[in-house]
Amino acid sequence: MDSGKTLTNLDELKSVLGSFGISSELDWIAVVLFARNLVRDLTVFTDPAKAEMQRAIFAELATKDLSDERYAQIIETLDIFIMNNIATRELEQALTEEKRSAAALLAEMGGLIETIRGTRKHQEVRLEDFQDRTVGVIKESEDRSVIVSKVRGIFKELVSEFQEESQEWEKLASELQRTATFDPLLTELYNRRAFDAALTKAVRRSRETETSLTAFMIDVDHFKSVNDTFGHQVGDEVLKALASIISSQAVQFQGFVARYGGEEIIVMAEGLTEERAFISAEAMRQDVQRYDFRVREDGKFSDLPLKFTVSIGVAMLRPEWGPAELVQAADKAMYEAKQSGRNQVRILRNGTI
Ligand code: GH3
Ligand code: MG
Ligand code: MG
Repeated sequence: MDSGKTLTNLDELKSVLGSFGISSELDWIAVVLFARNLVRDLTVFTDPAKAEMQRAIFAELATKDLSDERYAQIIETLDIFIMNNIATRELEQALTEEKRSAAALLAEMGGLIETIRGTRKHQEVRLEDFQDRTVGVIKESEDRSVIVSKVRGIFKELVSEFQEESQEWEKLASELQRTATFDPLLTELYNRRAFDAALTKAVRRSRETETSLTAFMIDVDHFKSVNDTFGHQVGDEVLKALASIISSQAVQFQGFVARYGGEEIIVMAEGLTEERAFISAEAMRQDVQRYDFRVREDGKFSDLPLKFTVSIGVAMLRPEWGPAELVQAADKAMYEAKQSGRNQVRILRNGTI
């Protein structure tokens, strides 16, 4: 960190403290620093929430009560504020995501139901027609063998029509199944809904059979700048390349690979030792680092590769954990990998990194 900059900041802070009649005690500096500088950088909060938080802190400071009790009170207020706001935001995001995928699914299901309904109506009409024609044939023909062969002919026609229609149903139903299970962009990866269901089952199985269960959380480093520099479409292509790289490693240990969030991939694997899990994660990280992604413009590939890296967090299921704790642990390890400079693997062993 630039020490000059820090000093200026500190001086600035002291003068702000001074203006509130507060001496430059470290604890109070921390509060002012948080309110003035850090709140701005917290992307998990909305701007109105940040402004409200700042207003509340500065109103507290304006009372010029510097007692330890007052300090504890401010910290507690802040804590509650932070927790409340983070919870709402995350919940909202999860809800929006869930609503969106449920809406897509409903729309497709509606289509399928309509088709089935339509076909059924059509089939009812065809069946009535079959009956009429059969009655007609019976009335008109004297010879039993003629009747049989004519009716058989009409019936065959009807059956083959119905068969074609049911194939159409089957196709639609399997498309629906795909939408409900796989990611629309990274088509070879499962979606989060499918992952959550598979993880719940795997956790149960792991407990019953006492085999290990590993989660790998993989997040692209500085992905925002890939989008900013090359555009969202290239960003999407990078994600597709990443999905392939991760899948081809995961296939070696029968991993279950899913898109967990925007640029996050999660892999779950059963029966790996901690060492094998770490080695596999390292292999994934290195494969990504080595990958020569070429940006395509006007159908031509650029000469320079677009390099990208990932940070990976690994966690092994512990007996007292459920599915959510395992994912949280992998996420925590991934966050540590980011903190330690990115393009790294971190593994959570016995609850610590
Ligand atoms: P960090 O190393 O800390 O992970 O930095 P980052 O830039 O990757 O992290 P951040 O979470 O700030 O940004 C993630 C970006 O991923 C922001 C979002 O626009 C982008 N993203 C998410 N989903 C998609 C997608 O489907 N396609 C594209 N092109 N971009 C996406
Ligand atoms: Mg991310
Ligand atoms: Mg990222």
